[in-house]
Amino acid sequence: MKCVAGELGISSHSDTIKPRSVLHDPVLIGPDVIRYLVFIKLIFTFADFFEDKLNNREQYQIAFSGLKPGTHVFDFMIGKLFFDQVEDTEILDGTVTISVTMAKEERMMDLHFVIAGTVKVSCDRCNESMDVPVMGTERLIVKLGDHYYEESEDVQVIPDTAYQFDLSPFIYEYIHLLLPIRRVHPEEGEGNNRCDPEMLKKLEELNRHHAADPRWEALGQLKKKN
Ligand SMILES: [Zn+2]
Repeated sequence: MKCVAGELGISSHSDTIKPRSVLHDPVLIGPDVIRYLVFIKLIFTFADFFEDKLNNREQYQIAFSGLKPGTHVFDFMIGKLFFDQVEDTEILDGTVTISVTMAKEERMMDLHFVIAGTVKVSCDRCNESMDVPVMGTERLIVKLGDHYYEESEDVQVIPDTAYQFDLSPFIYEYIHLLLPIRRVHPEEGEGNNRCDPEMLKKLEELNRHHAADPRWEALGQLKKKN
Protein backbone atom coordinates (compact mmCIF):
# COMPACT_ATOMS: atom_id res chain seq x y z
CA MET A 1 0.00 0.00 0.00
CA LYS A 2 2.89 2.27 0.78
CA CYS A 3 4.11 1.78 -2.74
CA VAL A 4 0.74 2.74 -4.21
CA ALA A 5 0.57 5.90 -2.15
CA GLY A 6 4.13 6.77 -3.18
CA GLU A 7 3.29 6.32 -6.84
CA LEU A 8 0.36 8.61 -6.50
CA GLY A 9 2.48 11.29 -4.97
CA ILE A 10 0.85 11.21 -1.56
CA SER A 11 3.60 12.01 0.85
CA SER A 12 3.52 10.63 4.35
CA HIS A 13 5.87 13.49 5.35
CA SER A 14 3.14 16.07 4.86
CA ASP A 15 2.75 18.51 7.75
CA THR A 16 -0.90 17.65 8.20
CA ILE A 17 -0.45 13.90 8.49
CA LYS A 18 0.87 12.77 11.82
CA PRO A 19 2.46 9.39 12.47
CA ARG A 20 0.50 6.50 13.96
CA SER A 21 1.66 7.46 17.50
CA VAL A 22 -0.77 10.38 17.37
CA LEU A 23 -3.54 7.97 18.35
CA HIS A 24 -1.88 7.44 21.70
CA ASP A 25 -1.50 11.15 22.44
CA PRO A 26 -4.73 12.46 24.05
CA VAL A 27 -3.79 16.10 23.38
CA LEU A 28 -3.74 15.58 19.65
CA ILE A 29 -6.97 13.61 19.27
CA GLY A 30 -9.30 15.69 17.17
CA PRO A 31 -8.82 17.02 13.66
CA ASP A 32 -5.45 15.25 13.32
CA VAL A 33 -7.00 11.86 14.01
CA ILE A 34 -9.73 12.59 11.48
CA ARG A 35 -7.13 13.58 8.90
CA TYR A 36 -5.20 10.42 9.73
CA LEU A 37 -8.32 8.28 9.24
CA VAL A 38 -9.14 10.06 5.98
CA PHE A 39 -5.61 9.37 4.83
CA ILE A 40 -5.96 5.64 5.65
CA LYS A 41 -9.31 5.54 3.86
CA LEU A 42 -7.69 7.20 0.83
CA ILE A 43 -4.93 4.61 0.72
CA PHE A 44 -7.50 1.79 0.79
CA THR A 45 -9.53 3.47 -1.94
CA PHE A 46 -6.45 3.75 -4.16
CA ALA A 47 -5.44 0.16 -3.37
CA ASP A 48 -8.95 -0.99 -4.46
CA PHE A 49 -8.63 1.11 -7.57
CA PHE A 50 -5.37 -0.55 -8.54
CA GLU A 51 -6.68 -4.01 -7.74
CA ASP A 52 -9.67 -3.32 -9.99
CA LYS A 53 -7.28 -2.20 -12.67
CA LEU A 54 -5.34 -5.46 -12.38
CA ASN A 55 -8.58 -7.42 -12.54
CA ASN A 56 -9.84 -5.41 -15.42
CA ARG A 57 -9.98 -7.07 -18.78
CA GLU A 58 -9.43 -3.64 -20.34
CA GLN A 59 -5.69 -4.24 -20.29
CA TYR A 60 -6.07 -7.08 -22.81
CA GLN A 61 -7.92 -4.85 -25.26
CA ILE A 62 -5.79 -3.87 -28.23
CA ALA A 63 -6.95 -0.42 -29.34
CA PHE A 64 -5.81 -1.06 -32.90
CA SER A 65 -7.64 1.77 -34.65
CA GLY A 66 -5.18 4.29 -33.25
CA LEU A 67 -2.11 2.29 -34.26
CA LYS A 68 -0.09 2.90 -37.40
CA PRO A 69 0.43 0.06 -39.90
CA GLY A 70 3.57 -1.88 -38.98
CA THR A 71 4.81 -4.02 -36.13
CA HIS A 72 3.63 -3.56 -32.54
CA VAL A 73 4.58 -5.64 -29.52
CA PHE A 74 2.40 -6.21 -26.43
CA ASP A 75 3.66 -8.00 -23.35
CA PHE A 76 1.43 -9.44 -20.66
CA MET A 77 2.08 -11.19 -17.38
CA ILE A 78 -0.92 -13.06 -16.09
CA GLY A 79 -1.61 -14.80 -12.80
CA LYS A 80 -4.38 -16.00 -10.49
CA LEU A 81 -6.52 -12.90 -11.03
CA PHE A 82 -6.73 -13.65 -14.73
CA PHE A 83 -7.66 -17.32 -14.30
CA ASP A 84 -10.18 -16.54 -11.53
CA GLN A 85 -12.16 -14.49 -14.03
CA VAL A 86 -12.62 -17.42 -16.39
CA GLU A 87 -15.84 -19.34 -15.84
CA ASP A 88 -15.40 -23.05 -14.97
CA THR A 89 -11.66 -22.90 -15.44
CA GLU A 90 -9.53 -25.92 -14.63
CA ILE A 91 -6.55 -23.63 -14.03
CA LEU A 92 -6.27 -22.75 -10.35
CA ASP A 93 -3.29 -20.42 -10.50
CA GLY A 94 -0.20 -19.69 -12.53
CA THR A 95 2.38 -17.27 -13.80
CA VAL A 96 2.50 -16.93 -17.54
CA THR A 97 4.12 -14.35 -19.79
CA ILE A 98 2.60 -13.70 -23.19
CA SER A 99 4.38 -11.69 -25.83
CA VAL A 100 2.21 -10.69 -28.77
CA THR A 101 3.79 -9.34 -31.94
CA MET A 102 1.24 -7.76 -34.18
CA ALA A 103 1.77 -6.87 -37.84
CA LYS A 104 -0.91 -4.32 -38.59
CA GLU A 105 -2.23 -3.68 -42.07
CA GLU A 106 -5.10 -1.51 -43.24
CA ARG A 107 -7.87 -4.10 -42.69
CA MET A 108 -6.00 -6.96 -41.06
CA MET A 109 -3.86 -7.82 -38.06
CA ASP A 110 -1.50 -10.76 -37.98
CA LEU A 111 -0.79 -11.72 -34.36
CA HIS A 112 1.94 -14.04 -33.09
CA PHE A 113 1.74 -15.21 -29.49
CA VAL A 114 4.69 -16.56 -27.52
CA ILE A 115 3.52 -18.18 -24.29
CA ALA A 116 5.78 -19.31 -21.45
CA GLY A 117 5.09 -20.09 -17.83
CA THR A 118 3.64 -22.50 -15.30
CA VAL A 119 0.06 -23.10 -14.25
CA LYS A 120 -1.51 -25.02 -11.37
CA VAL A 121 -4.17 -27.66 -12.06
CA SER A 122 -5.65 -30.53 -10.02
CA CYS A 123 -3.95 -33.89 -10.31
CA ASP A 124 -6.23 -36.50 -11.96
CA ARG A 125 -5.05 -39.13 -9.48
CA CYS A 126 -4.87 -37.46 -6.05
CA ASN A 127 -6.79 -34.22 -6.72
CA GLU A 128 -4.07 -32.07 -5.13
CA SER A 129 -2.74 -29.12 -7.11
CA MET A 130 0.29 -29.61 -9.34
CA ASP A 131 2.46 -27.38 -11.54
CA VAL A 132 2.30 -27.83 -15.28
CA PRO A 133 4.70 -25.96 -17.56
CA VAL A 134 3.05 -24.24 -20.52
CA MET A 135 5.14 -23.20 -23.47
CA GLY A 136 4.16 -22.61 -27.06
CA THR A 137 3.37 -20.27 -29.93
CA GLU A 138 0.10 -19.42 -31.66
CA ARG A 139 -0.96 -17.34 -34.61
CA LEU A 140 -4.19 -15.41 -35.03
CA ILE A 141 -5.38 -13.32 -37.94
CA VAL A 142 -7.95 -10.65 -37.21
CA LYS A 143 -9.77 -9.23 -40.23
CA LEU A 144 -12.27 -6.41 -40.54
CA GLY A 145 -15.65 -7.42 -41.98
CA ASP A 146 -19.41 -7.02 -41.51
CA HIS A 147 -19.81 -8.61 -38.10
CA TYR A 148 -18.09 -10.85 -35.52
CA TYR A 149 -17.52 -14.41 -36.71
CA GLU A 150 -14.89 -17.10 -36.71
CA GLU A 151 -13.80 -17.65 -40.29
CA SER A 152 -11.56 -20.54 -39.28
CA GLU A 153 -9.70 -21.76 -36.20
CA ASP A 154 -7.12 -19.00 -36.48
CA VAL A 155 -8.98 -16.32 -38.43
CA GLN A 156 -11.35 -14.03 -36.54
CA VAL A 157 -13.47 -11.45 -38.32
CA ILE A 158 -14.57 -8.35 -36.42
CA PRO A 159 -16.87 -5.55 -37.60
CA ASP A 160 -15.54 -2.48 -39.39
CA THR A 161 -16.89 -0.32 -36.60
CA ALA A 162 -14.71 -1.99 -33.92
CA TYR A 163 -11.78 0.02 -32.69
CA GLN A 164 -10.39 -2.45 -30.16
CA PHE A 165 -10.01 -6.19 -29.83
CA ASP A 166 -10.03 -8.30 -26.66
CA LEU A 167 -7.14 -10.76 -26.52
CA SER A 168 -8.07 -12.34 -23.16
CA PRO A 169 -10.31 -15.18 -24.48
CA PHE A 170 -7.57 -16.15 -26.95
CA ILE A 171 -4.85 -15.99 -24.31
CA TYR A 172 -6.89 -18.31 -22.08
CA GLU A 173 -7.72 -20.70 -24.91
CA TYR A 174 -4.08 -20.95 -26.02
CA ILE A 175 -2.87 -21.66 -22.47
CA HIS A 176 -5.63 -24.24 -22.03
CA LEU A 177 -4.60 -25.95 -25.29
CA LEU A 178 -1.08 -26.34 -23.93
CA LEU A 179 -2.27 -28.43 -20.96
CA PRO A 180 -1.63 -32.17 -21.22
CA ILE A 181 -4.71 -34.42 -21.55
CA ARG A 182 -3.69 -36.51 -18.54
CA ARG A 183 -2.50 -34.48 -15.58
CA VAL A 184 -0.87 -36.53 -12.86
CA HIS A 185 2.03 -35.93 -10.50
CA PRO A 186 5.22 -37.31 -12.08
CA GLU A 187 6.43 -40.83 -11.36
CA GLU A 188 9.46 -41.26 -9.12
CA GLY A 189 11.12 -44.55 -9.87
CA GLU A 190 9.49 -47.97 -9.53
CA GLY A 191 5.81 -47.60 -8.61
CA ASN A 192 6.32 -44.32 -6.74
CA ASN A 193 4.83 -40.98 -7.58
CA ARG A 194 4.66 -37.50 -6.11
CA CYS A 195 0.93 -37.74 -5.35
CA ASP A 196 -0.29 -36.82 -1.90
CA PRO A 197 -0.25 -40.21 -0.04
CA GLU A 198 -2.90 -39.06 2.47
CA MET A 199 -5.25 -38.06 -0.30
CA LEU A 200 -4.68 -41.32 -2.20
CA LYS A 201 -5.48 -43.27 0.98
CA LYS A 202 -8.72 -41.32 1.44
CA LEU A 203 -9.74 -41.85 -2.19
CA GLU A 204 -8.98 -45.55 -1.90
CA GLU A 205 -11.13 -45.81 1.25
CA LEU A 206 -13.93 -43.97 -0.49
CA ASN A 207 -13.77 -46.36 -3.44
CA ARG A 208 -13.77 -49.37 -1.12
CA HIS A 209 -16.72 -47.93 0.77
CA HIS A 210 -18.68 -47.48 -2.45
CA ALA A 211 -17.79 -50.99 -3.59
CA ALA A 212 -18.99 -52.44 -0.26
CA ASP A 213 -22.23 -50.47 -0.20
CA PRO A 214 -25.12 -52.77 -1.30
CA ARG A 215 -27.01 -49.78 -2.71
CA TRP A 216 -24.19 -49.20 -5.20
CA GLU A 217 -24.23 -52.90 -6.06
CA ALA A 218 -28.01 -52.77 -6.62
CA LEU A 219 -27.57 -49.73 -8.81
CA GLY A 220 -24.87 -51.55 -10.75
CA GLN A 221 -27.22 -54.53 -11.30
CA LEU A 222 -29.98 -52.17 -12.42
CA LYS A 223 -27.64 -50.54 -14.91
CA LYS A 224 -26.62 -53.94 -16.25
CA LYS A 225 -30.28 -54.92 -16.80
CA ASN A 226 -30.89 -51.78 -18.79
ZN1 LIG B 1 -1.27 -36.46 -7.65
